[in-house]
Amino acid sequence: MASKNISKRNFLQSVGMVGGTAAVMTALRGWEMSAAATMQKPPTLIVDGNGKSLLILGGGLAGMVSAIEMRKKGYDVKILEAQSTPGGRCISARKGTVIQDVGGETQTCQFENNQYLNVGPWRIPAEHHAVLHYCKTLNVPLEVFVNKAIYSYYFSEKTEGTLKNKSIKQVEADTDRAGHIHELLAKCAADGSLDDKLEQEDIDKLVDYLKEAGLLDSKDLKYKANQARGYSRYPKIGMDDGDLSEPFALKELLDYKFGGEYEDADHPGVMFQPVGGMDQIARGMERALPKTIFRFNAEITDIMQSDDGVTVTFTDTKTGKVETATADYCISCLPFPLLNKINTDFSDVVVDALKAPAAAPVVKLGQQFSHRFWEDEMIYGGVTHTDIPGHDDISYPSSDLHSNIGGVILTSYAKRGNSITLGNKSIADRNEQGLDAMEKIHPGLARKYYNGQSISLAWHKQKYALAGWVRWSNRNRRRKFPALLKGEKRVLFAGGGMAPQHTGWMVGAIESAWYAIEDLDKRIAQS
Ligand SMILES: Cc1cc2nc3c(=O)[nH]c(=O)nc-3n(C[C@H](O)[C@H](O)[C@H](O)COP(=O)(O)OP(=O)(O)OC[C@H]3O[C@@H](n4cnc5c(N)ncnc54)[C@H](O)[C@@H]3O)c2cc1C
Repeated sequence: MASKNISKRNFLQSVGMVGGTAAVMTALRGWEMSAAATMQKPPTLIVDGNGKSLLILGGGLAGMVSAIEMRKKGYDVKILEAQSTPGGRCISARKGTVIQDVGGETQTCQFENNQYLNVGPWRIPAEHHAVLHYCKTLNVPLEVFVNKAIYSYYFSEKTEGTLKNKSIKQVEADTDRAGHIHELLAKCAADGSLDDKLEQEDIDKLVDYLKEAGLLDSKDLKYKANQARGYSRYPKIGMDDGDLSEPFALKELLDYKFGGEYEDADHPGVMFQPVGGMDQIARGMERALPKTIFRFNAEITDIMQSDDGVTVTFTDTKTGKVETATADYCISCLPFPLLNKINTDFSDVVVDALKAPAAAPVVKLGQQFSHRFWEDEMIYGGVTHTDIPGHDDISYPSSDLHSNIGGVILTSYAKRGNSITLGNKSIADRNEQGLDAMEKIHPGLARKYYNGQSISLAWHKQKYALAGWVRWSNRNRRRKFPALLKGEKRVLFAGGGMAPQHTGWMVGAIESAWYAIEDLDKRIAQS
């Protein structure tokens, strides 16, 4: 979900040209907020709320975080939420979970053995301190989410050459690529090709490093079968050394234009997940709030402001009754695709900015298997990467390892056009597509062990999400986003869409809530 980098200076220059100094100051804070997930804990608020009323629109993570923190300062907080439970996109599908596509089929999850699929958020990197803060303070136990497992596969049906249409263990391709490059570098060091680039002393250090790294034969500096790549037959006791597996040829790997991406700050090899499902974060936040502050089944239709307050109109989805709620201030934590459908008196620039980011369609499909056949292939968690349309990431469970209760695999995490294609299929056809993809990776096993239980969620077809997240272009972030940071007279904005670098991350929702409450605190202090 990372946007292309732009320099802070360029960003602020462009904002200054459009909006002047005030906009630069607002944008500066916005830059700090959007550039990286660096906030470690909630802001320290100066003003006591003294019963000032605050309406929070949307009971997802952004809404609940705003409520938790503002209640601590004595604000009279109410959350209006269209659904009958809080948490928004932070949900897990388990036995009994009902998922209904707008204009489509309704599924009731029937996973066995207390297993589940995190149909929304599923992994937390160490950099996302704000998420970890609430896991710690709300007693939401975490376990390791294995994001990179070396024995999971690359599978490419689009590439050329001998490795096409084969399940290639990531460790083999990754190690061979590195090994061949080490050998090439060693050759360049020996034949003088590096002489105009490095001092001899540094060339020697480079060669020492290549030897130390252990991929090259220490005598002839050639890349050969090695322990990092692994064995085709593992050593037994006694004198048996086993057989090291033979590397792929450099030519094969050059033809294989797939895999080989580095882990990054948001997707490191080892990540975290709450024990028992990502929805435990939402449950933890819900527990931290009195039940009385939630008004569920409240579908917001209008937001109107005056000089001293805000009036929000909503329809009770159970009774059809139209009601209003008023407050001194309001924080909207509604996803932008929904907020754009609501009648408001927002300024034109804000209305324009709310429409600027693109809504990203996303589908997740989880299928349950009665036997953990992937563990027979030494895959424990991790993600198989493929270029089968709609199946870029196939993620194996990081929990219940070695158990005999089967497991749920995320067989599709479809984005962009692939998510539209998959989302338009019937549930039965989505399952077939998932099994077809799995059969390519694990021939003869996926259909054999599929127990008939699945769940799929097309986020762009969910009534109260309409997208997985929104995506800001750099241009719109520069030109339009600052208006949203400034907010309205009585309405501030929070939620995933307010964190351009992290629109598809919980950290974006939480940090944007922290930003909004700090901003509100400052406004009240100055009023
Ligand atoms: C497929 C997918 C994968 C993801 N993966 C990860 C991940 O691995 N790690 C991670 O950290 N994050 C991930 N995320 C992102 C994360 O789920 C979101 O950023 C976060 O949950 C958004 O919280 P929010 O409070 O901003 O919005 P939401 O959770 O959407 O909350 C908004 C609330 O507003 C309510 N609402 C909507 N319309 C109305 C209305 N008219 N009236 C009243 N209420 C309304 C909704 O019901 C909802 O409860 C993922 C998201 C998706 C969809």
